[in-house]
Amino acid sequence: MKLSVSEFKEDYIAAIKGTSARQIEDTTPLERYNALGELMKDYIGNLWANTNKTYREEHSKQVYYFSMEFLTGKFLENNLTNLSIYDVVEQGLKELGISLDVLAEVEVDQGLGNGGLGRLAACFMDAMSSTSIPGHGCGIRYKNGLFEQRIIDGYQVEFPDRWLVNNNVWEYKRPNKAVIVKFNGRVDTYMDGDTLKFAHVDYDAVRAVPYDTPILGFENNTVNTLRLWSAEEIDDIFDFENFSRGNYLSAFEKKHSVEIITQILYPNDAYEEGKLLRLKQEYFFVSAGIQSIFTTFKKMGVPIEQFSEHIAMHINDTHPALAVPELMRILLDEEGLDWDMAWKITTSCISYTNHTIMSEALEKWPHFMMRDLLPRITMIIDEINRRFIESLKYVYLYTDEEKIHNMAIIKDGMVKMAHLAIVGSHSVNGVAKLHTEILKTKELKDFYNIYPTKFNNKTNGIMHRHWLLNANPDLTDYVEGLIGDGFKKNPIVLRDLLKYRDDKVVQNALFDIKHKNKENLAKFIYEKQGVKIDPYSIFDMQAKRIHEYKRQHLNILHVLSLYNKLKANPNLDIPPRTFIFAGKSAPSYYVAKQIIKLITTVADMINNDTSIKNKLKVVFLPNYGVSLASKMIPAADVSEQISTASKEASGTGNMKFMMNGAITLATLDGANIEIMNEVGENNIVLFGLKDQEVFKYYQDGSYNAYELYNTTPAIKQVVDQLVNGFLPAAKEEFAPIVDRLLRFNDEFFVLKDFESYCDAQERIGLYYRDKPHWMKMSLTNIACSGVFSADYTIEKYASSIWNINRKPLDFKL
Ligand SMILES: *Cc1c(COP(=O)(O)O)cnc(C)c1O
Repeated sequence: MKLSVSEFKEDYIAAIKGTSARQIEDTTPLERYNALGELMKDYIGNLWANTNKTYREEHSKQVYYFSMEFLTGKFLENNLTNLSIYDVVEQGLKELGISLDVLAEVEVDQGLGNGGLGRLAACFMDAMSSTSIPGHGCGIRYKNGLFEQRIIDGYQVEFPDRWLVNNNVWEYKRPNKAVIVKFNGRVDTYMDGDTLKFAHVDYDAVRAVPYDTPILGFENNTVNTLRLWSAEEIDDIFDFENFSRGNYLSAFEKKHSVEIITQILYPNDAYEEGKLLRLKQEYFFVSAGIQSIFTTFKKMGVPIEQFSEHIAMHINDTHPALAVPELMRILLDEEGLDWDMAWKITTSCISYTNHTIMSEALEKWPHFMMRDLLPRITMIIDEINRRFIESLKYVYLYTDEEKIHNMAIIKDGMVKMAHLAIVGSHSVNGVAKLHTEILKTKELKDFYNIYPTKFNNKTNGIMHRHWLLNANPDLTDYVEGLIGDGFKKNPIVLRDLLKYRDDKVVQNALFDIKHKNKENLAKFIYEKQGVKIDPYSIFDMQAKRIHEYKRQHLNILHVLSLYNKLKANPNLDIPPRTFIFAGKSAPSYYVAKQIIKLITTVADMINNDTSIKNKLKVVFLPNYGVSLASKMIPAADVSEQISTASKEASGTGNMKFMMNGAITLATLDGANIEIMNEVGENNIVLFGLKDQEVFKYYQDGSYNAYELYNTTPAIKQVVDQLVNGFLPAAKEEFAPIVDRLLRFNDEFFVLKDFESYCDAQERIGLYYRDKPHWMKMSLTNIACSGVFSADYTIEKYASSIWNINRKPLDFKL
């Protein structure tokens, strides 16, 4: 938008008055931040209204992205960038004696997600707006986001994330758009003429209230909507019936039992607990979301039979898979369609993204639990299952009872959500080439055989405007100076950098930018933890959820072995290294929490040992989230992407690091493979087992971790050090980790890949010493990262799954 510095200052002074009723000099940073937020909302409001009006009047096809998590982080800087008023606002505030950086620090992260899955949803929201695709998000407004992680005595301790205490300036509560979601009760069937009808009676009603956040596109006038639902009591404060009987306290209890539904985000990544409250959350936001889609659809005045020509619904993993029976319920019971018509519409509307093949992450619900909580929905699932089994027998002519049993949606009293999602949708996609291949040839092979055209790949992407433009402004400015600003809208253009690959001036400039980012991070680490790190050392980072399959323990075992070498020979000539870890463990995941304690214990030992001459430092940065990631990633030299091959569906952290010039140290897993294909094998450092080797070991059981440990001194030394009193911790402290490696035969092949990993780390050291070589690799990574922009990913979803066209808007502010 067009805005001059003086116009902005005038607007801002008025906004301060309006929001805080104080003189600007007397306001706190929070008041200043809120005033800026309110002013931005004013600027955004007209664009938002215009976007919605255009969609409605032109009957645009719209997609609704259903996700249990949206890990959006902060909005302020992103919105300033996308309105292209960042510099004007920064200058205007400066003239008023206010620092934009200080206000940006006041904003708290909207941390309504665990990790990659939630962050993907947030990147997709931005990408839909920025590519002019009519697409909205639908999720849950958790009162408590993902817990705040603190490290106390080296252990992870969880604290609640009360992100709403200071209010959330970006959201609009819309009580007039509240809907009712029904739980429990029973279903009465009756005849109406000659049709069978169903009535859900004696239910518990919960009011779902939407909170809308505008999602701005980059310089394109599009503002889509992220709608998050909150559970509230029907009669706002009291259950009057109880109250009038003098049952004052129990009236509050009932209010509590409703509001608990959206109190907390479950803190598990890639693990399902199967709790009733979680099932309630899933139905709650799916039902509320679909009901509100019907309200919007009805305003278009289009016949119901054409529903799927105007509406697409995407489900991010199986958490929103109840969208299938809920859409069926509304079409059958409320719109009065027959089964075949309702099924045709439902399957044409819904598409599904699979995020994992790990069995502990696959959702299943006890049928009896679902029937009690959602009686009508469960009847519909039963009927979908019955018809699906019929089709296996009479359309696909299957006679193998065991196979039919395995493919069924309901098996052994459990409802399998992935099967429901596959049967009830027209598209099933994996999130990287390897992952999709594994779905087609192994995990979902039986479904691929009957529905080959449903399966497709959509490799994940990231929001380059956040991870490059906002997170690394110096690199952005420098790149712009070299190749122009075309990459902001069309990031593939970053490839133009390749012509500077051997240019010493460019290499040195890129080195200096990285060095400055490293100095900033070193300062941050010193202020937070009192640990001094050398900005000339290699910044080697592993930042992601802590999980055995991601193998932070492989990393720290290598650190131990490097330490042993330095102890044996303090003059060993290696480049100094700083290993930086960050990530949260699920609170109930004991071994992952012990891995954190292991990292912090090794860090304490190494950082306080002066005999190794500061050649090695280890840091664990607490509370990994979008904000911390944005500080860390621009300062990384090495990106650790070392999951057991076949386990990481895609990874997106790998793409963010690459875009900021880090060299990927990787197994051939997930999108690492695509990164290798982009940059070439010379610009990535690979090691470890490949997926087929992993599968073979699982199949023939020929891997013996204990034997490997006994016959490999390098492995034996570091594993023994975990439990022989070498570390400054109780001897038994890390026994559970050693048990996983030896007694339980190292399910994730940490020991098997150890030597190959150490070799790869040695190569990293050699390359780093050759500065022109290293900077050439780094530049190549930046240049080749554009294809991983979520803009391209989203355009593929839009054209090949949702069948939606771009809708460029020319409305001007
Ligand atoms: C990108 C991102 C992730 C995902 O990281 P992976 O390395 O792909 O697991 C998790 N958390 C945050 C905060 C992120 O920004």
